[in-house]
Amino acid sequence: MKKAVIITIGNEILSGRTLNTNFTYIARKLTYLGYDVLRGIIVKDDIEEIGNAFKSAIESSDLVVSSGGLGPTYDDMTLLSFSKAFNLKLTLNNDALEMIKEKFDNMTPEREKMAMIPENSIPIRNDAGTAPGVLVNINNKDIIILPGVPREVESIFENVQERIKVPGYVYYDKSLRLDGVLESIAAPLIKEYAKNNPDLYIKSHPYGIEFSKPGIELEVSGRGDSSIYEKVDKVLRELSEKLMVKG
Ligand code: ATP
Repeated sequence: MKKAVIITIGNEILSGRTLNTNFTYIARKLTYLGYDVLRGIIVKDDIEEIGNAFKSAIESSDLVVSSGGLGPTYDDMTLLSFSKAFNLKLTLNNDALEMIKEKFDNMTPEREKMAMIPENSIPIRNDAGTAPGVLVNINNKDIIILPGVPREVESIFENVQERIKVPGYVYYDKSLRLDGVLESIAAPLIKEYAKNNPDLYIKSHPYGIEFSKPGIELEVSGRGDSSIYEKVDKVLRELSEKLMVKG
């Protein structure tokens, strides 16, 4: 199975000021596209830290996706750090320049900076902001570099996902809320189903108030080919029927 590592960059994430929703968004997308997300790395806005994160991520995966630090200001140093780490030159990319020019009447050095991307990389259209995303291939591994603003991350990701999708791969998950079911009562049956269906992931998440107003959300997921839809639906149906009787 193809492996992916996600790098989220920014002092604000490490200080706790920004909730790392980009990680969650990218992780979920990659899971659906056919990747096993191995690791998430969070690093501060620092050339060495960012460069090392990319190096270590590439070693252990087929795909690396980063977010943050792609804007026009001095503290946006992701592309510089990445290029240094892999001895690539940052060059003015004409396609990227055109994408940026479309958004402004006049160009400034800061705006031009966003068109300076690593040699042999491809700019990806950003329909929600200015800085294009960047797609690079090193030793047959794809690296996607995205900005920090979440709606820009989503916009660029939509524009690049077809290129990284694992062909023929299906990921499917479904969940159901079961009011009145205690997790401790459900546990043995879930364990039995998990044992008999090793290709599925079966999990319960409790909600409500235990004893007085309990409930569980039952989640079943699987990956593989298109037969997984039926398997997941069947196990979720059987389990919920049995648990509602017990609950
Ligand atoms: P800008 O052009 O605004 O400088 P950028 O690509 O350089 O964009 P950052 O400066 O790293 O991105 O982040 C911009 C904003 O996006 C942050 O202030 C924060 O609100 C948000 N952001 C950054 N990283 C994340 C993240 N991992 N999850 C959620 N939001 C984030």
